[in-house]
Amino acid sequence: MKLVGIEQVKTRRRVDIKVAIEELKGILKDGVVKRAVVVDDEARIVGNDEVFEALRLLSAERVPVVGEGEDEEVDFPLEALGVWKQRSPRGLKVFESVLEMVEGLWPTPLVKLSASTPERRIFAKLECFNPFSNSIKDRVGWYLMKGVEGDLIYEATSANTGISLASMASILGKKVRVYVPESIGDECVTALRLLGAEVVKLPVKLTVEGLERVKEDARRDKAVHPNQFENDLNFEVHMRYTARELDEQLTSMGLRPDYLIGALGTSGHMSALSLYFKSKYGTKVVGVQPSKGEVIPGMRRVESGMKWYEWAEFDELVDVRREDAVRGIVEIARRDGILVGMSSGAVYEALKSVEGKGTYVLIFPDSGYKYLDQLKDAVRA
Ligand code: PLP
Repeated sequence: MKLVGIEQVKTRRRVDIKVAIEELKGILKDGVVKRAVVVDDEARIVGNDEVFEALRLLSAERVPVVGEGEDEEVDFPLEALGVWKQRSPRGLKVFESVLEMVEGLWPTPLVKLSASTPERRIFAKLECFNPFSNSIKDRVGWYLMKGVEGDLIYEATSANTGISLASMASILGKKVRVYVPESIGDECVTALRLLGAEVVKLPVKLTVEGLERVKEDARRDKAVHPNQFENDLNFEVHMRYTARELDEQLTSMGLRPDYLIGALGTSGHMSALSLYFKSKYGTKVVGVQPSKGEVIPGMRRVESGMKWYEWAEFDELVDVRREDAVRGIVEIARRDGILVGMSSGAVYEALKSVEGKGTYVLIFPDSGYKYLDQLKDAVRA
């Protein structure tokens, strides 16, 4: 048995991500790895592929390996595999390129809100500190585009993913066409066009309703369709980066999350965070969806179908009306002085229906500046 750098091991086939996640849940719960990856003489995996995949999803630096026929049983704490190793912070934030900056800006801030009480510490993770769409979707756009080989990209988006993809495409010299729902704000269309994207408005309420059309057009035009709704990279980026960075932030204060509250769209970020924190700490996870018939940009209801939601065993689902999300935005603005987006306002409102002492983390996906036009009525005299 020996420990080798994860880059040195060669995979033979892609493991079903659901199988890897079952393995990952056990590893996180125990904090140790109990089986080594079996490799041949050329470091190609020939057994226990799911252990390798689970460790890759946890961004391990090293993996335990054994040769064929050797005893597979091991007992390695995750620390020994470099899983919890603090990633070196780039203190002065000087970057060689914008591409390098995306990852270099992480972790996004985690800030205690004034709604905290002695019994409940309430932290918000501010995803607006991402550089392109000023939203959590920059993580997804960045990760999806890493592997894109073609030069023409089509994607259905409520705005944020499209803005991220358009930015990435500008950097990489590619072209993007985005399909957006009719509810998209003019500011976002302008942003997309400024970034060089072609914008196709579809007569749909929910972005996902445009999916078949995008698939068809992409097939016809031989464009790449990253498909944030069905591509597991959307889930994976949050497991590998968002979850572990939040864990590091909380651990640095000696805390673990008792409650995690966040908005559902594709369900990518909340499903990954839920799986991670529930497995490791038994965190209670609350998903937030718009009330029936209500439109909150970036969010939708669970019954509209979400690929990863079922994997994650959410403890509670909270419905929020659009006007209550707006009330949440105003409340945060006037108490904490930050202008957050519609889905963040919804997450803040959902907090009010959750009871229990402990440490809360609210995921705030973006800032309010994209929605100023839609928010005008909230401040009419
Ligand atoms: N909030 C905003 C503003 C979004 O743009 C999105 C997704 O587009 C979400 C929430 C939902 O995130 P996810 O797709 O990871 O469920």
